[in-house]
Amino acid sequence: DYAKTNAAKSAPVAGGDVWSGVWIIVEYNHGRIAPVSWELLGEGRKLADVIGCELCAVITGYQVDHVIREAFAYGAEKVYVIDDPVLENFRTEPYAEAITGLVRKYQPEIILMGATAIGRDVFPAVATRLRTGLTADCTVLGIDPETKLLQQTRPAFGGNIMATILCRSRRPQMSTVRPRVMAMPARVEGRSGEIVREQQSMTEDEIRTKVLEFIPGDAKSIFLDKAEIIVAVGLGIASQKNLPLVEELADSLGATLACTRGVVEAGWMSHDHQVGQTGVTVRPKVYIAIGISGAIQHLVGMETSDYIIAVNNDPEAGIFRVANYGILGDLFQVVPLLTAEFKKR
Ligand code: FAD
Repeated sequence: DYAKTNAAKSAPVAGGDVWSGVWIIVEYNHGRIAPVSWELLGEGRKLADVIGCELCAVITGYQVDHVIREAFAYGAEKVYVIDDPVLENFRTEPYAEAITGLVRKYQPEIILMGATAIGRDVFPAVATRLRTGLTADCTVLGIDPETKLLQQTRPAFGGNIMATILCRSRRPQMSTVRPRVMAMPARVEGRSGEIVREQQSMTEDEIRTKVLEFIPGDAKSIFLDKAEIIVAVGLGIASQKNLPLVEELADSLGATLACTRGVVEAGWMSHDHQVGQTGVTVRPKVYIAIGISGAIQHLVGMETSDYIIAVNNDPEAGIFRVANYGILGDLFQVVPLLTAEFKKR
């Protein structure tokens, strides 16, 4: 309501201080484009259509020509590019300066980026430089019909409620968005549009952080958000020494192994495997939850899976409320039976 009351005050002055366009910051690092960048182009298309403005992609990095082609293929009408060797490795300072410089010059109304490790790092730095608001970790976006402000919905109070936030400033409105919650748009080969190239403002000497070496992370965990079948385990497994039981089930299905925060906090699996509000959001075809209670913070990371199968010995477990198939029983009896059955196929 506060935002609505103040929206008129902060609206752009017609013909003068106009902020227009939906921008998606494409995340590109060491040859890998974060898929959430394209999910956001799909979502950005809907927002731009409602407002009646242009949909643009922003690419900052080094040797990015192939990324420009992809951005057009996924629906960008215009692409802003800063291609410079100082942007080869992600560092907050030069990336934040590059994005801020583009925003100041071209004045987009909305800018979105994935709530990835990089997005969560660079966007607050950009918002601070621009003296505007930022809603982090959104799961739903829309346009308020009355004010045309961006409606930014995200979990609040430990995930117990969903809050919808309007930013009273249009200069610009900024959100990071969780990967895998927006649908991937169709890729149309050969689409093109306008390319605007700008210079990086910082030189290597001015950047305080130096990258000595780039060590890639665990390849398995990188693919958790792309996995088609996931076997996820919770504290019901009782001990780290019982993990081979679920690993064998995952192997029998060619599935990727994941877990709850409880399991990470117990030190049984690494955080890379954690699904949920403070972990990864997944959307596999099949999600098999073994000994997981179904706390809201876990559910927000997996409830959009196509089929959810839960094994739990508590009939009241929350996981059964989102499960398509529930198996009420002791996992130490049920899991070996499932593994044996899948191994036959
Ligand atoms: P429990 O809640 O202890 O559940 C264990 C389940 O196993 C129970 O349902 C029990 O009935 C069942 N069980 C026990 N023995 C057996 C058996 N022999 N056979 C079958 N079933 C059995 N959690 C996440 O997962 N991801 C997050 O990203 C996340 N973020 C959070 C963020 C915040 C701010 C907060 C406050 C919490 C967060 N949590 C998150 C924690 C969350 O609230 C839960 O504590 C956690 O998900 C519980 O993990 P669990 O289901 O493994 O354990």
